[in-house]
Amino acid sequence: MFEEILDVSGCACGKNHTLKTREYIVEKDAMQKLPALLGRLFPEAKPLAVFDRNTHKAAYPKFSASLPDVPVFILTDDEIHADERQVGLVTQALKDGGSDLLLAVGSGVICDIVRYIAFKEDIPFIAVPTAASVDGFVSNSAAMTLNGAKITLPAKAPNAVVADLEIIASAPKKMTASGVGDMLSKYISIADWKIGHLITGEYFCPFVADLTIEAVDMIVQNIEKINSGDIGSFGVLMKGLLLSGVAMQMVGITRPASSFEHHFSHYLEIVPIEGVNRAALHGEKVGIATIQAAKYYPVFARRLNRIYEENIPNHFDIERVKGYYAQYPQGIVDAVEKENTPTITAKLDRDLLEQNFDKVLQIADEVPSAESLTETLRTIGGYTSYYDINMTDEQFKETMKICCYIRNRFTLLRLVCDFELFDFDHELTV
Ligand SMILES: [Zn+2]
Ligand SMILES: [Zn+2]
Repeated sequence: MFEEILDVSGCACGKNHTLKTREYIVEKDAMQKLPALLGRLFPEAKPLAVFDRNTHKAAYPKFSASLPDVPVFILTDDEIHADERQVGLVTQALKDGGSDLLLAVGSGVICDIVRYIAFKEDIPFIAVPTAASVDGFVSNSAAMTLNGAKITLPAKAPNAVVADLEIIASAPKKMTASGVGDMLSKYISIADWKIGHLITGEYFCPFVADLTIEAVDMIVQNIEKINSGDIGSFGVLMKGLLLSGVAMQMVGITRPASSFEHHFSHYLEIVPIEGVNRAALHGEKVGIATIQAAKYYPVFARRLNRIYEENIPNHFDIERVKGYYAQYPQGIVDAVEKENTPTITAKLDRDLLEQNFDKVLQIADEVPSAESLTETLRTIGGYTSYYDINMTDEQFKETMKICCYIRNRFTLLRLVCDFELFDFDHELTV
């Protein structure tokens, strides 16, 4: 699997791409192949397998049948975050047992904890996903909560991924819907990347962009079969999620997989809003935001010509942005100021925008409609509206106005915010 993209030399983007994660086993009884994989890649290693209580229940029977002698460490807290506490617990277990290889048996959070430790201790790790819930399994950065702040830190990409589809197809439906929501966001992130390239000259890889869109298209086409629990179709979903991660690894940035819709989700994670369901999964929030992004994408794009026709200045004002976040702890306000200075939209080239405006519209119009994305998420039983996470209309408007400042990334939403091309208080239809 993926053999043809492990090494891509002479890519159209001008780079050679080489993957760090070079082994992928995605099949019904993948767990049974784990011993042979370990024997081949790490014959001398002393592995430690990390679970939480849920993944232990779901995956340990098959795991222990394959690897009865591998020691296991179970994270037992009720709520597990990728934070100092869990990192400390796993690191201690690693040292106590003299282990030098980690197996992350779980979904996103366990993988983040393990990949962060693998990086710090400079040891290899293998991702053993137990649910098709996120696209970040082969990521080389970890979403950590350290000192109470949510940050992305350098971490290790797994040496291999072993995805047992029987276990993954038995995961709670909510997690599968989250994986689908995370994938749908690629329609927005790739459109933003293409437009950013056209009007700021930023780096862009057409191969990676196409690969990402193929991955999500493949999932959308199989959504009914995935919903029916068909194990082969879970293979399509898992392969799509992995391909999105592979795409990020190829270019070494998260640009192909994360844009405005992820900022919406990150915003809710960093600055929790009164009453809004904090327990919603990453991909659930991303899916909701993706539908909204698709709804406004063509609208926003059609405002951009005003920038050069009316010579509209960039209205970005760090004091105003800090004002948006004033009600939150000073640490958040400081982080927002640091992140956004200088604003990324200063890179907009007005001449390039004017020359490429038709292409920008074309890219915007190729984003699937909000209705079709809603239909896909509805089919898999996912969240489709911000009401599903108990967000009010007012909170939604506020979030749309503010969330692009959680990351300094060039997006259509960010352009519209900085150049004040859209009145979020009056033009959003809720
Ligand atoms: Zn390339
Ligand atoms: Zn994501």
